Amino acid sequence: MTDDQRSALEEFRAFADAEIAPHADPAHRAQRTEPAVVKALADTGWMGLAIPAEYGGLGRDAVQLGLLAGELGRACSSIRSLLTVHTMVAHAIGRWGSREQRERWLPRLATGELTAALAVSEPGAGSDMAAVATALTREGEGWRLDGHKKWITYGETADLLLVVGRSAEGPTAVLVERGTPGLRTALITDLIGIRASMTADVWFDGCAVPGENLLGRPGLGVSHVAGAALDLGRYTVAWGSVGILDACLAASVDYAGRREAFGAPIKEHQLVRRMVSTMYADRQAARLLCLEAGRLRDARDPGALAAASTAKYFASTAAVRAASDTVQIHGANGCGPDYPAQRLLGDAKVMEVIEGSTQLHQTGLAEYAFQESARARRPHADAVTADAVRRDR
Ligand SMILES: Cc1cc2nc3c(=O)[nH]c(=O)nc-3n(C[C@H](O)[C@H](O)[C@H](O)COP(=O)(O)OP(=O)(O)OC[C@H]3O[C@@H](n4cnc5c(N)ncnc54)[C@H](O)[C@@H]3O)c2cc1C
Repeated sequence: MTDDQRSALEEFRAFADAEIAPHADPAHRAQRTEPAVVKALADTGWMGLAIPAEYGGLGRDAVQLGLLAGELGRACSSIRSLLTVHTMVAHAIGRWGSREQRERWLPRLATGELTAALAVSEPGAGSDMAAVATALTREGEGWRLDGHKKWITYGETADLLLVVGRSAEGPTAVLVERGTPGLRTALITDLIGIRASMTADVWFDGCAVPGENLLGRPGLGVSHVAGAALDLGRYTVAWGSVGILDACLAASVDYAGRREAFGAPIKEHQLVRRMVSTMYADRQAARLLCLEAGRLRDARDPGALAAASTAKYFASTAAVRAASDTVQIHGANGCGPDYPAQRLLGDAKVMEVIEGSTQLHQTGLAEYAFQESARARRPHADAVTADAVRRDR
């Protein structure tokens, strides 16, 4: 890491410890994020950490964005998920919005005056995003939106929704403001994890969307607009999973040093040490994969896509292993409400479902492996062909 990245990490860590971590368990129990916590994050300016300076953001690099997601994820996965969805929408507007759209929305997203959510999933469309059925029909100069989005993180509170509906041209992205007549949301409670993430059902009943709120070209809502958002989303979720690994390790080491069984602290029992050592190695590996994904993203390297997928796959599955072992190390206390272990387990499991499920990353990574192997063989094949051509002459 550079000196700037290191000093940013110190700042993020101090903020997460002081302002976010104390709220994590109460928010988990109450199943809601207090507005004061969102304000505390907005007041740092970090809701706009990755938004370019010309649009009022801090214009920091991807590694710093990842470090922030990691520290928030260590303290509270729900707040980390706020950063994720907000940053995804800002990124999509920055990448696919017109100059007018960037100037209209990004400065207010950067300060946190507005928060944003991404609404793609529906009761009948999750991994297969192109199956979205929410109807987007042309009406005069604008659009009419009818349908039902489900599982929308911070959908209950977001001021701006990036919605992917289906127009005559295919999946199409539009921006919908809270307060639009016909827009209705309802909190989904009793989630397994990220229980404070204000995740909501969102209904559109004849919502009028102005023509200037179309984001990108009709038909490119999944392939381009949501695609750009999801690439960044899986990167910050990978880092959030590193944060969960950090939290698991800290909780397990602390508890194992204090709890005694059979006349010794349980950290002296080899099978407990094995759980801690696996967690430690997984955390180190996940962190390095995330740093590499960030470095490639900053370098605009074409390998950044595969690196983010690898990091997300590894870090989220490792977080589930670590959180399960954290519960195990805590015994009955791990199953109860007085320790963070059960919150960490639920949060970790959600990481395996969102931003591309484990299985989608597995199939995608296998494809990268086959392509890599084909590329490696090609120079040899090319040389053989060149030899054959020379011989024929
Ligand atoms: C807490 C939470 C927050 C969320 N936040 C948002 C949000 O902010 N915005 C949003 O739009 N969505 C959000 N989602 C939805 C999330 O993106 C979807 O749950 C996810 O894409 C998976 O879709 P699904 O649940 O419909 O599962 P499905 O797509 O039905 O998949 C079910 C199972 O089948 C497997 N599967 C599916 N296809 C394949 C395949 N081709 N090969 C192998 N296995 C396959 C999956 O891996 C999974 O195990 C959220 C979900 C949760 C739980």
